[in-house]
Amino acid sequence: MSEAPDGPRRKSDPAEEQRVHHPRRALPTDVVRPTRAEVQLSHLRHNLGVLRKAAGKTPIWAVLKADGYGHGAKAVARTLERAGVDGVCVALVEEGVELREAGIALPILVMGGYYGRAEAEFSHFHLTPVLSDRGQAESLAMALKAHDRKMVVHAKVDTGMGRLGTRPSEVPAFAAEIQKHSCLQMEGLMSHLANADMSDPGVLENPLALFAAAEAQFKAAGLHPTRRHMANSAGILRDNRTHFDLVRPGLSLFGVNPLANVPSELRPLVPPDARFKPTLRVMSHVVSLRTLSAGDAVGYGGRFVANGPTVVATVPMGYADGLSRMLGGRGFALVRGKRVPYAGNVSMDMIGLDVSAVEGVSVSDEVVLLGEQKGPLGTDAITPDELGTWSGTIPYEVLTSISRRVPRFYRES
Ligand SMILES: *Cc1c(COP(=O)(O)O)cnc(C)c1O
Repeated sequence: MSEAPDGPRRKSDPAEEQRVHHPRRALPTDVVRPTRAEVQLSHLRHNLGVLRKAAGKTPIWAVLKADGYGHGAKAVARTLERAGVDGVCVALVEEGVELREAGIALPILVMGGYYGRAEAEFSHFHLTPVLSDRGQAESLAMALKAHDRKMVVHAKVDTGMGRLGTRPSEVPAFAAEIQKHSCLQMEGLMSHLANADMSDPGVLENPLALFAAAEAQFKAAGLHPTRRHMANSAGILRDNRTHFDLVRPGLSLFGVNPLANVPSELRPLVPPDARFKPTLRVMSHVVSLRTLSAGDAVGYGGRFVANGPTVVATVPMGYADGLSRMLGGRGFALVRGKRVPYAGNVSMDMIGLDVSAVEGVSVSDEVVLLGEQKGPLGTDAITPDELGTWSGTIPYEVLTSISRRVPRFYRES
């Protein structure tokens, strides 16, 4: 809808004020190309179970920003809601609206901050904003007063991330501002850990001390938040002093342990018998096979040159689907259960694989780009950690990069 930048809202019905648009993802029913992602919902439930062991009785609020780390937030939220998760956190108002419209009844916390002018959406869809500073508290209070509404809010303090959240020295003024407005019902106090996956054993001490100091300052202002929270996946698995009143796992729900590379004494809360299971498989088919002779090249720039008879498979998935161009010459995929290297540069819609070593390879063989494959030549798996290492990034970016062109299929087992 159109609206003058600083003018009054022209419509008073919050439903009509909705300005959130929904980008549309490729649907399974539309799919022609064999490229797809498969989400294993049973593994998601398993991972929630592992986290429950680590968190004890502390409620779990699943972090489902970026479309549920690329898995499709609606399906993930529905699965976790049925499995008994206690709340959901997203980054954007739009993401919260999407989940509410999909029928999710859990509390939904919008962590990215209150951007202003979205008070109608927060109210209408019962979303909880995180206020990061005094100015946000004031502008939300003004908007609420204009409509004679109240709202439950969480306040965020900066304990070392240096991004959002009120700086330690400004906490008293922030608390006073929230306290001043009876329309702001402060339910939560939160922070976010910047270094909980680092090998240094002392990384949590400073954030914990700053959080305790901030809580004392809120109490001194007469505010008693009942939902205090700071733990991401790494914090949950590492130290129960970070658990407080609820925990916010993201990555670990999707099968990646962010502490896999730190010494095991730093992750005492990972149950020894329990492993996180990967939740996303990405696969396609071989659509073309050719046998190259010495000197023949593959792909843009002729980066791969055969030095003898070489069989190259073309697979219809490229960087526009979320396979980083960095994988050219570095990455591996699975064909018939065998690991094979990428050949040549990744194109927008295609990659080449050197399948010379794959006995019996043929057109329409399944290719697994991420996840496990059981084939006649063996069983192997490409993990988000590996793909991240080959492409110079982290598993978070690997999962959230699988683009809208790739339809997600959901499997219960
Ligand atoms: C992404 C995020 C989380 C979850 O972090 P993981 O490392 O994926 O578990 C928790 N809290 C905030 C504020 C986040 O942005």
